[in-house]
Amino acid sequence: MASERTVSAAIDGPAGAGKSTVARACAKRLGFVYCDTGALYRAVGLYCMRHGGVESTANIAARVPEISVAIRLVDGVQRVYLNGEDVSEEIRLPEVSMAASAVSAVLEVRAALLGIQRKIAEENDVIMDGRDIGTVVLPNADVKIFLTASPEVRAKRRCDELTGKGVEARYEDVLADMQKRDYDDSHRKAAPLKMADDAVLADTSELDLEQAVELVCGIIENAVHNKLSKERG
Ligand code: C5P
Repeated sequence: MASERTVSAAIDGPAGAGKSTVARACAKRLGFVYCDTGALYRAVGLYCMRHGGVESTANIAARVPEISVAIRLVDGVQRVYLNGEDVSEEIRLPEVSMAASAVSAVLEVRAALLGIQRKIAEENDVIMDGRDIGTVVLPNADVKIFLTASPEVRAKRRCDELTGKGVEARYEDVLADMQKRDYDDSHRKAAPLKMADDAVLADTSELDLEQAVELVCGIIENAVHNKLSKERG
């Protein structure tokens, strides 16, 4: 859980809102560790794709004890390991996004990943992004931000990102996948995507990356300043 000694910022929001790009840039600027929790769900999704598929909840739950996922910082960049194999690139494929969303609805998966996430926040000043960081993983985070943008803007950004990496992507397909993931993530029973009551809403539809980073860094810096002032009485 978030500790007294470290500072934690939780950034939640729907797919493609720019959470990871913004969080990574803010972490770099503020000297925090950046933790992308979606990568953990993606690694579990990839494992299940390789072993029995993600259609059956029973199969997913049965696979959990076989899976070890870890996040390591290599030259300041987060790498994701699945049973020791570096899967950092493979987990970004669109089919793995859908598999991640499927496995993330399974309670056994969420329970297995909770401890890893909390430990990172206990040991580091962290900016952690995901869907349930402010609501479930770090309910005592020093600052919570719900980062969003319109579905069309998010789909366009994700499409550009995939195309930039040489992955073929049609806007209509990306938008449809994103809308399905948003719906499933918000309507599942286990830790659904929702804004924490004490989160700050940040809509980046009209902002470019630099402006979004300014906005989010400003919110975090303000919270850190308030925490330190309180501690000093
Ligand atoms: O953030 P990203 O798009 O990489 O996440 C992939 C999927 O993992 C999401 O669609 C969501 O279903 C799941 N996820 C989650 N809880 C988190 C982070 C991601 O359920 N904290």
